[in-house]
Amino acid sequence: MSHNKKTQLIAAGRDKKWTQGSVNPPVQRASTIVFDTVADKHHATVNRANKTLFYGRRGTTTHFAFQEAMSELEDGAGCALYPCGAAAISNAILAFVQSGDHLLMVDTCYEPTRDFCNTILKKFGVETTYYDPMIGEGISALIQPNTKILFTESPGSITMEIQDIPTLARIAHQHNIIVMMDNTWAAGIQFAALQHGVDISIQAATKYIVGHSDVMLGTAVAKAEYWDQLRENSYLMGQCISPDDAYLGLRGLRTLAVRLQQHQQNALAVANWLATHPLVDEVRHPAFASCPGHEFFQRDFTGGNGLFSFVLKTSYPRATTALLDGMQHFSMGYSWGGFESLILANEPKSFTQLRSVSRPNFDGTLIRLHIGLEAVEDLIADLEQGFARYQTVLDSRC
Ligand SMILES: *Cc1c(COP(=O)(O)O)cnc(C)c1O
Repeated sequence: MSHNKKTQLIAAGRDKKWTQGSVNPPVQRASTIVFDTVADKHHATVNRANKTLFYGRRGTTTHFAFQEAMSELEDGAGCALYPCGAAAISNAILAFVQSGDHLLMVDTCYEPTRDFCNTILKKFGVETTYYDPMIGEGISALIQPNTKILFTESPGSITMEIQDIPTLARIAHQHNIIVMMDNTWAAGIQFAALQHGVDISIQAATKYIVGHSDVMLGTAVAKAEYWDQLRENSYLMGQCISPDDAYLGLRGLRTLAVRLQQHQQNALAVANWLATHPLVDEVRHPAFASCPGHEFFQRDFTGGNGLFSFVLKTSYPRATTALLDGMQHFSMGYSWGGFESLILANEPKSFTQLRSVSRPNFDGTLIRLHIGLEAVEDLIADLEQGFARYQTVLDSRC
């Protein structure tokens, strides 16, 4: 992460207008905003889309501070807030499609994103084509006259492929296609999406921005060209969040750089250890040459975090269960980005449902880790004991 970004994380959104002289802005809870004069009410109405108190659903000063911080950090014209990452993804897409349109979705997208395309978009007559995350210039062949959005997510969910976003964006823009990205992994700051051609950068702020596994939150930062339509459509869909959650999102930003740095350092130590383990076939960590798209990670990203995967040489579910059930420091949970370590296993056959065009090229069980802020020696010891339990079950097979 650049020094500049670290300083921005501390200062962003702390205008006196919002903080009223304290370090952090107060939590302003409001549905109704009241006006004393017709002129005041008129002023609020005219400026309601631009950080002016109008009505609770348009936000309060706490929301404005968080939105301003996010727009600054991701170099956008504005940031729409959503009650979770899934809402940010679905509403960003819905704001720009109509029936008869076509969407290009990366095959390695977050699973609920795929389900949204296959159910809700389909119901409204919007067709989705899935494309291989490594397609690069080949994307041209999939563009149709009615293609409206190219949706990216990098690294890919679970299998961690890094996309060539600048190439995809350049080709999409030649066809007036809007480029969106689920930029959750980079926490919006390890990959400068808008500077690499993305028009709308979306995050499950639930993950690293909040950082403590205690708030659901979504953000979408848009270029000026798309900000008005994104904001107004999301407003009409009733998308808004509590000021307490906006406050916690803003608070999370202040420590984001140091947390990411430690997550990244711990994760690299664990990944390096895994890479030499006899049970491990390959490590899917963007900083490793074995990870598809590693060259784009090196070129475009300024750092990583605690989330990566590795593949075992074998797929033997009973042994995997023995590994998982005895872990001391890793819990099983469908999330990541908090201070704690997490572990999940995917058997190779599960990818037949999760992928349409990019079948994974491995036969072993894939294990995804989120490396938390514990002492890394404890995490490695925990995994070592897990592998021993795994081996015991393997050995007892015959
Ligand atoms: C968690 C996650 C989401 C969804 O976010 P929620 O806040 O859980 O709705 C979307 N994309 C990615 C990559 C995620 O990890």
